[in-house]
This record gives sequence, structure tokens and C-alpha cells, in this order.
Amino acid sequence: MQVDLYEQFFINSSTAYSCHKVIFNGEGSPIDYEFIAFNKAYEELMELKGENLLHKRFYEVFPNSWDDQEKWERFINDIIRNQKPSQIDIKKPNVPKWLRIISFPLKNDTYGCIYFDVTKEYMQDNEIEGFLKVNIDLLSVMDTDGYYIRVNQAYERILGYKAEEIEGKSFKLFVHEEDIPKTNHIIEQLKDQKVISSFVNRILHKDGTYRYLEWRSQMNGKYIYSSARDITVHRNLEQELCEKNRNLARLTEELKEKNKILKTLAITDDLTGVYNRHFLNDKIKMKMDQADLEHRPISMIIVDLDYFKKVNDTYGHPVGDEVLKSTGNLLKQMIRYSDMIVRLGGEEFVIILPNTTVDGAYNIAERIRRKIEQYDYPVAGRLTASLGVAQKKQSESFESWYERTDSALYEAKESKRNCVAKAFITS
Ligand code: GH3
Ligand code: MG
Ligand code: MG
Repeated sequence: MQVDLYEQFFINSSTAYSCHKVIFNGEGSPIDYEFIAFNKAYEELMELKGENLLHKRFYEVFPNSWDDQEKWERFINDIIRNQKPSQIDIKKPNVPKWLRIISFPLKNDTYGCIYFDVTKEYMQDNEIEGFLKVNIDLLSVMDTDGYYIRVNQAYERILGYKAEEIEGKSFKLFVHEEDIPKTNHIIEQLKDQKVISSFVNRILHKDGTYRYLEWRSQMNGKYIYSSARDITVHRNLEQELCEKNRNLARLTEELKEKNKILKTLAITDDLTGVYNRHFLNDKIKMKMDQADLEHRPISMIIVDLDYFKKVNDTYGHPVGDEVLKSTGNLLKQMIRYSDMIVRLGGEEFVIILPNTTVDGAYNIAERIRRKIEQYDYPVAGRLTASLGVAQKKQSESFESWYERTDSALYEAKESKRNCVAKAFITS
């Protein structure tokens, strides 16, 4: 390039340039810097007129000096001494303006400077600083690769790490392994400019435990700004409560199951598994009222084993018990779903048959008699039973109905046993 082109380039560039000559004292120490050249962009950046600058000394132009003057002096002297380019950021006095200066040696004790206005960058840094200081929550600034750039002091208080132990490290190093996929997903959402308001993951405390943090995060420019709150206590209480609720639900289920068993036990005869007297007392009134109301027949059969006492006497009580069990099972197989078998005590079974006339009941009783007669009881062998049958009269009491059935049974016992007798409705 021709020399005059260089000059034009220097003068017209929109980037600010200046050239200076170092002024030394008698002992060879630099005491000031003279303006020997600068361009229009420099005048604009410094808000100074050229005639007030040329061949002026730095301290003449800036008598109050700059905030970072000492730093700047050292910087320039180093360039002269080392003859190498270097860079420095300087704040302009009294105004919120930051300049990045790249300086490089020219000839002997002269050097050139290029200036960039980096105020925006510094303002952002200041904002970050303020943002980090004012909050008691965990605050952080990360880059989009998930590396911590800045964290506040709350990180030490809540997670045990000093800022320098975290800054520059990948955020993911601290995330619980199981929470990494969902955390990655959230970072992707942030990159899509989505605001995250209540994301929870587990972060490693310096003591090796994990803390539950609830995050609020947002992308701003090239940074991810986040605030997080430690919700571990809250979360643990919640989990404890859930656990307790689950236990309660399980206990309630168990209680229900046990109540069912208790209820069954309360109405079931231990030995034979058929209903007991309590069940009869509970249910019979309803069955009788229903029959009366609907003018439907309802009948009763009493089954009584013949000479049962002899079984006990011959083979012992446990064999007698087995006979009762077998008889209960035989009877259960022979009745309808709507019928009820009740062991009232001893070797006597009562069967209630809704919607059944005395003749219908007689036929069933006869079938039962035959079944028992044909059954080969283990140990006890062949046994027989006598049965009484009676149909309930309209509005008749249970006692009266039972008595009439029992009388029929008595009749069967009196005649020849191993037979069925029915009570006739006389009124
Ligand atoms: P009958 O032909 O007149 O009915 O004579 P029976 O021997 O069957 O009648 P009885 O009423 O004289 O005797 C019934 C016996 O049943 C008396 C009692 O010891 C026995 N018994 C009552 N309850 C049980 C029980 O739960 N288990 C056993 N093994 N025996 C019982
Ligand atoms: Mg008997
Ligand atoms: Mg008896």
C-alpha cells in the first residue's frame, strides 16, 4: 500500500487510533506520554477536539488522570520495554464508559493504540454482579454449553462449594446421574428461548449428599441466568407423607380384608363352614318378611343325623367332628344359591329355602336323605339322617315355624328314622 493510502486508512477508519511518544525524566523513568497522532474516530470516542490534543501531554489533556492510571502506565511501559503488543480495559473517568485498548510498539519510544468501546460488555457484567449479590437463592450464570460462568455466595452456604470450585466447570458434573436426561432436555428448551419456571433435579452437595433444587432459568443473550431454591426438606417431607399415605392405604386395605374375615367368622360355623346361629338371627327376619310381603312360599328343613352319639362313642369326638364337616359339605353341594344352611348346634342343620313350597322342600329333603344314606363317611362308614320339613305360614313367627319343623323331625325319628316328615299347614 502506498504511504498516503496508509494515512487515509488511519485517518478515516471508524476504529479509534492514536500514537504516543513516551516522555522520560532525567533518570530515564517515563513521566508522561505525548499525543503525536490520532484519527477522527479517536476524537469522537474521547469527545475531544484535535487541536487540543496534538503534541499535548497526556496529563495536560486529562489533568485529573484516569481511574486505572497506574495500571495503564505500567501497561504502556511494559510495551516499550518488551516491545510486544498487549491489551487493557480502562474505565473513563466520571462516566460509565469502558474502553479496550490494544497497544503495540512503533519506533523507539513511540507506541500505537487501537480503542474499542466495551461499555456494553461491562454494563452486562455489572448487571450480573448486582443480580448475584442481591439474592439469597442460588444464582448462576452459565453458557449455553452448561458451563458455570458465575455463581453467588449462596452456593457455598447451600451446596458447600466456593465460587472458584464451581466456576468454569460443567453444570452436569453436579447433577444426579438419573436426572441428567431431563436436565439436558431443559437446557435444550432454554436454548429455544423458553422460560423454565419450576424444574426440579438433584445436585451434588460437597458433603456427597444430593439436594433437591427447584430451578427458574432463562436465556438472556449468550447466557443462561438461573435462580434455584433448595427444596430438599420440603421434598423429603412430601415423600414421607406419600410413604405414610401409602402405608395408611395398605393398612386400610388390610383392615378391610381382616374385617371381611371377622365378619365371615362371626357368621360362620368354625367346624363345618356353614352359617351359624348369628347369621340366621340376622337374616331370617328379612327373608320371612319378604316372603310374607310377596306372598311367596318359604320352607325349612331340619337335618338331624341318626344315632350320631354312637359315632362319638365308638370312634371318638374328632371322628364325630369329621362326620359333621362332611355332612356340611354334602348339604352345601345340594342347595341353591338363594338357600341358606345353618348349623344351629350339635348335629342338627337347618336349611331355609325361599320360594319353595313344602312339597318342593320335601323333594329336596328326600334327595338329601338319600345322599347321606349313600355316602361313605371316612372311618364312621354309613350313616343316616332324619329330616323334618315345614312351609312357613303367612305372618308366622320363626319360633312357631321352627317348632313345627322340629315336630316333623321328631315324627321322622319316632317312625323309623332315615326318613323325611313334613308338617302340614293346618291354618
Ligand atoms: P338321634 O338319632 O335321636 O338323633 O340320636 P343322636 O345320638 O344323633 O342324638 P343325641 O341328641 O342323643 O346326641 C347328639 C350328640 O351329638 C350328642 C353330642 O355329644 C354330639 N355332639 C354335639 N355337638 C357335637 C360336635 O360339635 N362334635 C361332635 N363330635 N359331637 C357333637
Ligand atoms: Mg341325631
Ligand atoms: Mg340331635
